[in-house]
Amino acid sequence: MPTAYRIELEAGEVLFREGDAPTTAFLIESGTLRITAERDGAPMRLGDLSAGALVGEMAVLDDSHRSATVTAVSACVLTPIDRAQFAERLQAADPVVRALLLSQLSRYRTALATFTGNDPMVAAAAAGDAESAHALDKIRLESQLRSAMENRELEIRLQPIQHIASGRLAGFEALTRWTHPERGVVSPADFIALAEETSLIVPVGEYVLREVCIALRRIGEEAPHTRPFIAFNVSGRQVGDSEYVARVLAQMRAHAVAPAQLKIEITESLVLDYSQIATLIERAHTAGMQVALDDFGTGYSNLGHLHKLAFDTIKIDQGFIRQLDDPRCLAIVRAVIGMAGALGCDVVAEGVETPEHLAQLKILGCQYAQGWLIGKPLTVDDALAALTR
Ligand code: C2E
Ligand code: MG
Ligand code: MG
Repeated sequence: MPTAYRIELEAGEVLFREGDAPTTAFLIESGTLRITAERDGAPMRLGDLSAGALVGEMAVLDDSHRSATVTAVSACVLTPIDRAQFAERLQAADPVVRALLLSQLSRYRTALATFTGNDPMVAAAAAGDAESAHALDKIRLESQLRSAMENRELEIRLQPIQHIASGRLAGFEALTRWTHPERGVVSPADFIALAEETSLIVPVGEYVLREVCIALRRIGEEAPHTRPFIAFNVSGRQVGDSEYVARVLAQMRAHAVAPAQLKIEITESLVLDYSQIATLIERAHTAGMQVALDDFGTGYSNLGHLHKLAFDTIKIDQGFIRQLDDPRCLAIVRAVIGMAGALGCDVVAEGVETPEHLAQLKILGCQYAQGWLIGKPLTVDDALAALTR
């Protein structure tokens, strides 16, 4: 079929036949088309389509042969739509949505084949299958994550954060762990990203916050003189919720936790919507809570925004700390610590793994360190033991 701006058919003219290879889909601008499929050698009417409907899009979507013949009932005007136009959009779509669409399509084709008694003309689409399998895997994981929350299979681990000058254990960062019955420990890098794709991150966030409050409550009871803070990570969707800080406060009150013991961590790549973050910081401060900028140096590091956002803490990403031996990296870390000091922010160095790096950070005047050298993420029991040691 030559690609034209519009195609005109006269009554009785065939647009394409069952078994043809697909090249184009069509939007019906005017007129009526009839869809038929052969059954026992005779054409069987499947339906009529008129203005506003798409026709021939199925074969274009899943790259199968035409499963029906389309004939003009009256004079028709059609706009051809090149398969690439669909293919690009389909490729850009959420893989789960794509899997749902292709699964529906294949079910329709099977039903049609059963109905007409013909072989289903479904393309093998091997690449699509691997992709669908991945998408279905995601859906499965998402269901399991929901039930993990119900069964309290998600746990928080508390990674110690040390005040460098005094060597004192100042607080912790809550990191979420999911021990999956079959997959073992699933990294937050995997399941948090999955939860962030949908609103599932909201209940996950609430769950983590509740666990953090429970831990703080226990620490208050069992190690009352220590008063460490616990920092927890929030995601984009949570930040976008205008009631987010109010929700945090409600949880805090329910567990009788002091706001000064909670710290919100916002990863740098989220600081795109400047006014949203500004509002969040303002509300957190009014409530007596601090806010940290996480993974500094990895996202956009937009200094134009940074000077307007009153973060209490800047966490330098572990990528910089790991390369502290490189003079250029050292220069960046020194400059960030200087800048943070001038802005009235504390600095936490993330990913501190060696005594040399800790010593270097101390010389640079960095206030806090977090990393394997200080301590791995601990269970709440072990965190309590570390506090009272
Ligand atoms: P993050 O907030 O930057 O947390 C620090 C990550 O670095 C953690 O990885 C931690 O285990 C790891 N880490 C700490 N010290 C060292 C070190 O010395 N060396 C090395 N190589 N790694 C170190 P983890 O636990 O895998 O978490 C990954 C990310 O997942 C976190 O990065 C955070 O962005 C996100 N995340 C974790 N829990 C939650 C959560 O409850 N909610 C949200 N929204 N995100 C979370
Ligand atoms: Mg963090
Ligand atoms: Mg970080």
